[in-house]
Amino acid sequence: MIHFVGAGPGAADLITVRGQKLLEAADVIIYAGSLVNPALLEAAKEECKIYNSAYMTLDEVLAVMFEAEAEEKMTVRLHTGDPSVYGAIREQMDALDRKNIAYDVCPGVSSFFGAAAALHLEYTLPEVSQSIILTRAAGRTEMPEKETIQSFAAHHATMVLFLSAGLLHQTAADLIAGGYSADTPAAIVYRATWPDEKKIICTVGTLERAAEEAGITKTALIIVGDVIAPSAYALSKLYDPGFSTEYREKK
Ligand code: SAH
Repeated sequence: MIHFVGAGPGAADLITVRGQKLLEAADVIIYAGSLVNPALLEAAKEECKIYNSAYMTLDEVLAVMFEAEAEEKMTVRLHTGDPSVYGAIREQMDALDRKNIAYDVCPGVSSFFGAAAALHLEYTLPEVSQSIILTRAAGRTEMPEKETIQSFAAHHATMVLFLSAGLLHQTAADLIAGGYSADTPAAIVYRATWPDEKKIICTVGTLERAAEEAGITKTALIIVGDVIAPSAYALSKLYDPGFSTEYREKK
C-alpha cells in the first residue's frame, strides 16, 4: 500500500495526526526534499528506508514504490503542503493504477493556509472577496490559454500565486493589465511557518521591489487583494444577532 501524505507547509508539527502515524509506521518514505521539513523524518522507524525525491525522476520514484510493493512493504510518499496542489501526484497514481497497486491520500495543510495564518488573514471577507483564486505565473509549465493572470485579475477576488516569486516583474504587469490598480494590497510570505519565515505587505505595484529588497526569489506565496488591508468589510451573518440560524434564535 502506498500512502500519499501532505507534510504541511513547513513546521514539523503542522502535519496531520494521521500523517504522523503513517510516517511512524512506514517501511519506506519518499519525501520531496526541496520543501518538506527533514525534522518530520525523525518519526520514521529505524529500519525505514528513506529517499529524497528531489534527486529522483518519476520513474525512479515509481521503481522504489514497485519494489516496496513486491516486498509487501508500506510506503509513504510525503509531499509538501497538500498533495493535491501542484503535487504531481496524478502521474504517480495513474502509474500505480496501471499496476493495480492500492493507494490512498492523506491531506495536508497547504502553504496558502500557512501564509494566511502568518498574516492573520481571512481570505474571504464579506463584501470584499468571497473567492480565492489559486494560480501561478507561467514558468517551465505553461499556463492553459484561458487561465492567464490577466483574466483572473479581472475578478478582483483574492488571489494566491504559487511558484511565482521569481517572476514578479511580469506577474505584476499582468495583474495590472488585468485590472488591479497598482495600489491594490499585496503580500509576500516566504517559508510560511518555518523558523525563518518572512512576511511583507506591499502593493501590486511594489511587489517586485519588495521581493528584491528582501532577497526572496523562491519558496514564497504572493497574495493579492483587498482582504489584505480592507478599508471596510461586512460582519458575518452567522454571528449577527439580528439573524436566526439553525442553532440560535435572533435577539
Ligand atoms: N503542495 C504545496 C505546493 C507545492 S508547489 C502546498 O500545498 O503548499 C511549491 C510552491 O508552494 C512554492 O514555489 C511556493 O510558492 C509554495 N510554498 C510551499 N511551501 C511554502 C511555504 N512554507 N511558504 C510559502 N510558500 C510555500
